[in-house]
Amino acid sequence: MSNRTCGVIYWFRCDLRLHDPVALAHAINRAQSLGGWLLPVFVHDLRGQAMTPWGFERVGPYRRAWLGMALQDLQSQLRELGSDLIQAWGHPAQVLSDWAQVLGQALVVCEDIAAPEELGDIASLRQGGTKVETVWQSSLMAPLSLPFEPAQVPDLFTSFRQKLHHSSVAPTLPAQNLRALPPLPPTAWLEAAQAAVGRVPRDLPTGQARPDPRGAFAWDQAALHGGERAALAHLAQYVKRGLPHSYKATRNGLMGLDYSSKWSPWLATGALSARTAWAAIDGFESAQGRSDSSQWLLFELLWRDHFRWLHQKHGVRLYGARGLGSAPAPKHHEGAFERWRRGQTGQAWIDAGMRELAATGYLSNRMRQNVASYLIHDLDCDWRAGAAWFEHCLIDFDVYSNQGNWLYLSGRGTDARANRRFNPVVQAQQYDPDGSYRRTWAGAKDQ
Ligand code: FAD
Repeated sequence: MSNRTCGVIYWFRCDLRLHDPVALAHAINRAQSLGGWLLPVFVHDLRGQAMTPWGFERVGPYRRAWLGMALQDLQSQLRELGSDLIQAWGHPAQVLSDWAQVLGQALVVCEDIAAPEELGDIASLRQGGTKVETVWQSSLMAPLSLPFEPAQVPDLFTSFRQKLHHSSVAPTLPAQNLRALPPLPPTAWLEAAQAAVGRVPRDLPTGQARPDPRGAFAWDQAALHGGERAALAHLAQYVKRGLPHSYKATRNGLMGLDYSSKWSPWLATGALSARTAWAAIDGFESAQGRSDSSQWLLFELLWRDHFRWLHQKHGVRLYGARGLGSAPAPKHHEGAFERWRRGQTGQAWIDAGMRELAATGYLSNRMRQNVASYLIHDLDCDWRAGAAWFEHCLIDFDVYSNQGNWLYLSGRGTDARANRRFNPVVQAQQYDPDGSYRRTWAGAKDQ
């Protein structure tokens, strides 16, 4: 097993796909220039099993099940290309450094994730002597196309959007699809690599949980499978049925699949790339004409981008109790938080939302805003506890969007308004006038 310094380990993170393969294409080029092999890997992070300070496991069963589907589809596609996906369970930096060592100081290539824990993993790998190259790929706009340094992004979303608009920045086109992959390392090396991480328990459940069929995103249906192929089919049908033209009018809906795009669960695992979603809308606009509504989808994806650049700018400050503000640290009431988490506050509008979230792993944007506001402003609880519960539940958990939205609603982030409280009674009347959402999930019509 000499001269193994000729291969690349491609570490799939939140990019479980083969389309728009920016970081993966870089890894392939590196493998080819080294004249060697490419080993695609995924590491199930054992930190997801840790208990949060708020009294529950960090990653819940729906997220595991959703991730398991994306991995299954990715592995089967990689096998069709003559490659494979090797999975391990453990601490990513440890597992990857073990692999890199056993495979002759292999180069690790992966996507860049600008969140503290994920950056910490890369730093640990490098400190341990592993060679790592990271590639930024998860935003709609390429960092170099921005009219400012990412770390100088305007804090206010409106200023950010206007700056992009005035400098006519367009989303980057998706990268070309892959046709082939370099070979895997020789079998003996692969076996050695697997043995090196074999001491880690392999029985972590990828999850058999299934969502309640009443949910807005009933992802146990075949069409809503968590893999890349279902993601692309979902996107294609969304466009084919002309839904971008009705999005703006329906986006505040609560029930059913079509009131919003439902891209987020696939975007979160990377089974769908944001640029591919946008390219589909762009193609739709070329064929069917542009509308306020179709443009609103770009606007929403820009929120997603904005939270990414805010992470580059503010980093770990987004995670402290006081956020970016100077107001005193939030209070917390454990009993009230528990009732909120279990959908037992006695406020049917809020309880309905919390029950849908817990029973399906998905919740509409309207209800996310309402339940978050209620926890922070009505129950006077710590926003970080709410963010942690969303992280546990949401199959579309995205570290940037979750942290950013929670901080925003807590008034400690980048919202120009300090107190964005949603009045639950007014909101319920406006968005659930006949009480059907509350009846479905909380069994009652609210006062
Ligand atoms: P659509 O309404 O169809 O929007 C299209 C896409 O635009 C979404 O898929 C998403 O990528 C993006 N988008 C829309 N609204 C937002 C927003 N406010 N912030 C960032 N991106 C947005 N979204 C996540 O993807 N992951 C999260 O972990 C997450 N946590 C949230 C926590 C709170 C407290 C709140 C209020 C919102 C959160 N969101 C999060 C944003 C938003 O609720 C979801 O993106 C949206 O509901 C997903 O459904 P959809 O794909 O049908 O969205």
